[in-house]
Amino acid sequence: MTQTAPLAFTQHLTVNPKSAAERDAVLANPGFGDHFTDHTAVVDYKVGADGQGGWGNARVEPYGPIAMDPAAAVLHYGQEIFEGLKAYRHADGSVWSFRPEANAARFNTSARRLALPELPEETFIESLRQLVAADQDWVPSGDGEALYLRPFMIATEAFLGVRPAREVSYRVIASPAGNYFGGELQPVSIWLSTAYARAGEGGTGEAKCGGNYAASLAAQMEAEAQGCKQVLFLDPFNDNAIEELGGMNIFFVFKDGRLVTPALNGHILHGITRSSVMQLAADRGLKVQERKITIDEWREGVASGEITEAFACGTAAVITPIGELKTAEGTIASPGSGAGEVTMAIREQLLGIQTGVVEDLHGWLTRLV
Ligand SMILES: *Cc1c(COP(=O)(O)O)cnc(C)c1O
Repeated sequence: MTQTAPLAFTQHLTVNPKSAAERDAVLANPGFGDHFTDHTAVVDYKVGADGQGGWGNARVEPYGPIAMDPAAAVLHYGQEIFEGLKAYRHADGSVWSFRPEANAARFNTSARRLALPELPEETFIESLRQLVAADQDWVPSGDGEALYLRPFMIATEAFLGVRPAREVSYRVIASPAGNYFGGELQPVSIWLSTAYARAGEGGTGEAKCGGNYAASLAAQMEAEAQGCKQVLFLDPFNDNAIEELGGMNIFFVFKDGRLVTPALNGHILHGITRSSVMQLAADRGLKVQERKITIDEWREGVASGEITEAFACGTAAVITPIGELKTAEGTIASPGSGAGEVTMAIREQLLGIQTGVVEDLHGWLTRLV
């Protein structure tokens, strides 16, 4: 894509932001996804009478409800995509994001799949800069904390026929975030879904769209009923090959130091954490394999001691050790006790780069403020 100047954002800041006391109370215990900052960044898209579409009216405005026609296409047909990335506070007070250009590119891949307009990558990154500049006091500085940024695009045209909407809105909201699973880092237990699939050949599994998450909730309820925190999805048409969790990719560590992750097959989300973990593992001299790995290989690998660690990864939860896997046919034990050594070493390194305490040898950081 050719470099173009980002759209210029106008700033319409709220005259009535949350009080410093309210903000400090949130920052003292951010949780995940429960509290939002004072502003939102917005860019509108419209197809004109000449049939040409264009983005305009880029702005930062007070956070608040969206007025939308009840016939807006997103409310009926789910024409929606999103992204998730974080802004990290460094020791000198500056604020950085991690590989935002990869999120911008993936956003456009998702847009193409959901027949939404592509947003110029420079404008995507500028929208993050503008929002974080307005709400920089909301970026937490505690251990493992960051400001979670949620860009999304929705079809706002009021029209009940089925076709791509000609009016679309791009927005970014921000939410201070602590540990995704709450409390201390502990191995999470996983439920194996066999009744439901997350994605399939030719479907939307590779796109980051709300519909995939809506489709995962019934399985997530099953998981919770089993006392598990997350769901693992398989490809039942391919020997029960492991795909990924509802919102995280998965890795296995083998006794001989190999790291194995399911190969991208057209219906696994291209995780930016996944690709970063592969790079950091290779930097450490570990052999990384992207290949098919089945549920039988997991079961047998844990039983024989070949598989020593398993972990999930994604922006929200960073790297989280996986404990036991519960299935309708019994439980596959946790590969080790507690968090594994390789899992924790890569986690520390990744978090260190993101928070500016480990050197960023790959040029992954972009300064926002
Ligand atoms: C967002 C997401 C991931 C993780 O991607 P990151 O870029 O690492 O945050 C993994 N799986 C699914 C289904 C996702 O939506």
